[in-house]
Amino acid sequence: MPIEFQIPPEVERQAEQARAVAENVMRPKSRYYDEHEHERPWEFIHLMWPEMRERTRRELEASLRRAHPDTDGSDPGTGSEACAEKAKRPRTANMALIHLVEMLSWGDAGIYLCLPGPALAGAAIQAVGTPEQKERFLRRFTEGEPKWGAMAMTEPQAGSDTSAIQTTAVLDPETQEWVLNGQKIFCTNGKLAYQESDGLIVVWATVDRSAGRAGIKPFVVEAGTPGLQIVTEEKKLGIRASDTASFVLDNCRIPADNILGSPEVKGGREGFKGAMRTFDATRPIVAASAIGIGRAAFEFTRDTLAQEGIRMEYGRPRWKLSAPQVDLLEMEIQLRQAWLLTLKAAALLDAGEYNKLAASMAKVKAGKAVTWVTQKAVELLGPLGYTTQTLAEKWFRDAKINDIYEGTGQINTLIVARTILGYTRRELK
Ligand SMILES: Cc1cc2nc3c(=O)[nH]c(=O)nc-3n(C[C@H](O)[C@H](O)[C@H](O)COP(=O)(O)OP(=O)(O)OC[C@H]3O[C@@H](n4cnc5c(N)ncnc54)[C@H](O)[C@@H]3O)c2cc1C
Repeated sequence: MPIEFQIPPEVERQAEQARAVAENVMRPKSRYYDEHEHERPWEFIHLMWPEMRERTRRELEASLRRAHPDTDGSDPGTGSEACAEKAKRPRTANMALIHLVEMLSWGDAGIYLCLPGPALAGAAIQAVGTPEQKERFLRRFTEGEPKWGAMAMTEPQAGSDTSAIQTTAVLDPETQEWVLNGQKIFCTNGKLAYQESDGLIVVWATVDRSAGRAGIKPFVVEAGTPGLQIVTEEKKLGIRASDTASFVLDNCRIPADNILGSPEVKGGREGFKGAMRTFDATRPIVAASAIGIGRAAFEFTRDTLAQEGIRMEYGRPRWKLSAPQVDLLEMEIQLRQAWLLTLKAAALLDAGEYNKLAASMAKVKAGKAVTWVTQKAVELLGPLGYTTQTLAEKWFRDAKINDIYEGTGQINTLIVARTILGYTRRELK
């Protein structure tokens, strides 16, 4: 697929608006929320909610239109020609999202993670939910007060190896409800979704432990459902403004039709494999967040060194540059490489093309680049970088998560290797 490097004007406009929020609302509060870990940035949340609500509404309606192309009166033209025309129009939703996320993460990555909306839960519902489920679960994110969606996969014994999930889901034949039991850890926005808004959590549980991955299914637990209890709010190295919750499920009962996809163990595309595609959509977003943090650290270091007379010089041979100049160039190169991979992953998604390889490549590269770039920033800035006088040490701490969640660097490298070499999960692990 040819890649268009021209950023659509509407995406650029939106990135400019995000820059104003990042500069004026996020940066001034960066240190405060880092030091007040379990307080949430409500001024940012309320400011962003109308835009996030509208974004979810557009995505939901587009998705319902794709399911029922001839039944939505709000669509301009419903005949087959109009539908074919619409299918040809370039979509820019993912391109717009990565620009927004990069800019907000440049402002503050922890605060950005508090953006209200369905987030990862929405991606799972969009990937495998029926039109009725999309309407039932996602419509709430288009109205009323701020709400969050969260995704709970990780357990104490099941991180990278998701086939080890122990949480069970059993269908009660009398009440026709699923009964969930187990423990989930590290759930981003878990408390905001379940306890502080009318949101929801997509919980992954097994309907048949002996079936391994094939038995693992996503279930929607709506806010306030009895039987789910938040037990811990994590204290973290970085992204401290972000809510990271652990919870237990103790006979948590949910309606039979809150399972996403087929309950059949041999559920094919709608099963575990199908829902795993959510990561193809969300990994470029993590990559964009990583690049935003990296760019913050790079620009600050570049500008600080410039005040000391050390300026970036493009076009001169490396051997004529000083060591810090070479470092600055390398920081920029690493970030640009990661950004190009991220653009490609998002562009493929917008074009409706398969992007698994591009998504994992972008995630691996961006996770490693941001870790290296922020470490270099601390190093080049000396005492300024190592103390709380500046945000450099915070960016260094915020960076690492991008190489951990939504598949660690090692796991995404495995995915890249398997895809390129044509190995199965069993053959290369
Ligand atoms: C702040 C935060 C937020 C999170 N948010 C969420 C969330 O919203 N929802 C959710 O479900 N989870 C979430 N997670 C969990 C995250 O996805 C897991 O931490 C991650 O999948 C890694 O799992 P683990 O920590 O159990 O590490 P492990 O799987 O135990 O891995 C430990 C180390 O071994 C490496 N490793 C493991 N297997 C292999 C292999 N086959 N080959 C090579 N190396 C390997 C890993 O790369 C890692 O370096 C979050 C985590 C954090 C820290």
